[in-house]
Amino acid sequence: MSRITKYRTCNLCEAICGLEIEVENNQVVSIRGDKHDPFSQGHICPKAVALKDIHEDPDRLKKPIKKINGEWQEIGWQEAIDEVAQRLCAIQSQYGDNAVGIYQGNPSVHNMGTSFFSPNFVRSLKTLNRFSATSVDQLGHHLAGDQMFGHINMIPVPDIDHTDFWIIMGGNPIVSNGSLMTAPNVGKRLKAIQERGGKVITIDPRHTETSEKADQHIFIRPGTDIYLLLASINYILQNNKQKLNHLEDCVDATQIAAIQNLVSPYSIPMASNATGIDADVITTLINEYSDATRAVWYGRLGVSANVYGGLCHWAINVLNILTGHFDTPGGSMFTSPALNLANQKSRSKKFNRWQSRVDGLPETGGEFPSACMAEEILVEGEGQIRGFITSCGNPVLSVPNGNRLDQALESLDFMVSIDIYLNETTRHADIILPPATGLETPHYPSGFHNLAIRNTANYSAPVLRKEEGTLYDYEIFIGLQKAIEKIKLSEEEQKKNESYFQLTPELMLSMGLMSGDSGVTLEQLIQNPHGIDLGPLQSQLPKKLLTENQKINLLPEIYIKQIKTASSRIYDQSDQLLLVGRRHLRSNNSWLHNSYRMVKGRERCTLLIHPIDAQKRGINDGQKISVCSDVGEVNITAEITDEMMQGTVSIPHGWGHNRNGIKLKVAEDNAGVSMNDLIDNKLIDELTGVSIISGVPVDVKV
Ligand code: SF4
Repeated sequence: MSRITKYRTCNLCEAICGLEIEVENNQVVSIRGDKHDPFSQGHICPKAVALKDIHEDPDRLKKPIKKINGEWQEIGWQEAIDEVAQRLCAIQSQYGDNAVGIYQGNPSVHNMGTSFFSPNFVRSLKTLNRFSATSVDQLGHHLAGDQMFGHINMIPVPDIDHTDFWIIMGGNPIVSNGSLMTAPNVGKRLKAIQERGGKVITIDPRHTETSEKADQHIFIRPGTDIYLLLASINYILQNNKQKLNHLEDCVDATQIAAIQNLVSPYSIPMASNATGIDADVITTLINEYSDATRAVWYGRLGVSANVYGGLCHWAINVLNILTGHFDTPGGSMFTSPALNLANQKSRSKKFNRWQSRVDGLPETGGEFPSACMAEEILVEGEGQIRGFITSCGNPVLSVPNGNRLDQALESLDFMVSIDIYLNETTRHADIILPPATGLETPHYPSGFHNLAIRNTANYSAPVLRKEEGTLYDYEIFIGLQKAIEKIKLSEEEQKKNESYFQLTPELMLSMGLMSGDSGVTLEQLIQNPHGIDLGPLQSQLPKKLLTENQKINLLPEIYIKQIKTASSRIYDQSDQLLLVGRRHLRSNNSWLHNSYRMVKGRERCTLLIHPIDAQKRGINDGQKISVCSDVGEVNITAEITDEMMQGTVSIPHGWGHNRNGIKLKVAEDNAGVSMNDLIDNKLIDELTGVSIISGVPVDVKV
């Protein structure tokens, strides 16, 4: 059979790079960047080739397996689906709908079938116990969208292709290729800012790979971002530096006055004391940012998952709005996606409509923070989770306090996992249902076009033929929903969903494209396999706003309490070190550690520690050391480096593939440790319920 070339959007991370894939005999021969993709223009990162590794991984499951007397045995699809439906229904019938919980991992949004078909399945379960990777670190962004702009998916992104001044706070986009900001080849885009005379500044407890390329790096003590942000708002208002420009009519002036009053305790000396940043550096930063013609302030994980993560994202939006850097080229802007996830139809306030049973944490967008997942399973009482579903996620490694969740999953009456691996999480399942993998499925990255710094649209047909006897993920969701409805609903009621069960991802996409303004159709996308360019981001306010009065709600009620109380929080500046996470280019959360190409080379799961902190504790470079927090301990190799701010240490997330019962071949030798074993799920941002990942107190000793 001859060799053919196919084009596809990489579904591994948010950057949605275009790939050119050579295929022969239904096997991948090579993977390169697609030079004709209008967005990524040939860029790829080393992870792209791991798509082949995942597809060919001998550890990948292809048939359902069931645990029988502690041993895994292959079973047929219908038998597996029927048993899952029967077990889940039996639990719900005995203990109520909330007795079944579900966790959806990060790959869910990188998969067209799961994105389109899992929501209906989840709704059909009628459980409030829904969790996902979203709540590990991004609820603050969604909450600000919901409260300020009228939709949970109205998340503004930095227009980095047109800005001249980019502040990156708590993010490392050279490595992540953008997070809640889809931007392939950030390195090239960052360089372009500098070449047009602009400036890039990073603010982070670690001198990151992005800091290395930036014009200036500012160290900040973890968890103190809010003081810099509120002091910046105060400084701008006090010095009459605000300029709303075309947003004058979109903002209520009384709210600005109220904000000025609320932020008045946050002075630059106070911010300097809290953050560890010199007061003159702060003043220069705010002046340069507010005076720049085209500037944008962007905050990501280090900001999102700290004690005031939710409030920080409100503050970042307020700063961009007050300084005239919002909804304008080069500032913080909304996208115009061909498939619009934020439209009038789906608008409604989606926060704190109900609370979690044990800890009383608020729902956001219909889900509870993953911080309370283990408690909802372990703590007895009405509504306790007894049956659980995981879909393409490994929360034992990827949510805070993995050990507690490990223990919780083991206690369940029944668990099913939709996953291609037997891993640290799915080992607790009774049945595993493995879907066809990325290269065998069609793809349209709907979530990421909504967050992209340029408007494009790209549909990918499957690259490889699906193996006989395997099922697509959407077929699994439909199969489960049908089987559950067969048990729960009358024949008459079941008929209502008959037409839905006939849908395919392509039909869903075709209908979804009608929600956008671009007029792009599926047929056009099929005819343009490299993707369609829909142009740069455009100013869209007030038309785009989905608030009831079509104005920006600059001061939502939910933020006021924290603005009032944050000033009295005393930060312990004792000798205890503060832990932050980090990400590597060849790592994708916990996804790729069974690809030898991604884990080979020098040990990467190390503890970064500043030379003075290491010296104080008698730690040598390369030495095995112990790191303890209130909830756990890990043993890890020390890497002494002045890229860390003194008083802080860093461990990468997503590692720790060394728990009992797993047999992944590569992971055995390159396990690393799970940073999440040190994170206390009970230490949360009280507003959003997101666990504090950035700035966790730890002791480090030999
Ligand atoms: S940057 Fe992300 S989308 Fe691009 S090739 Fe790498 S993993 Fe794929």
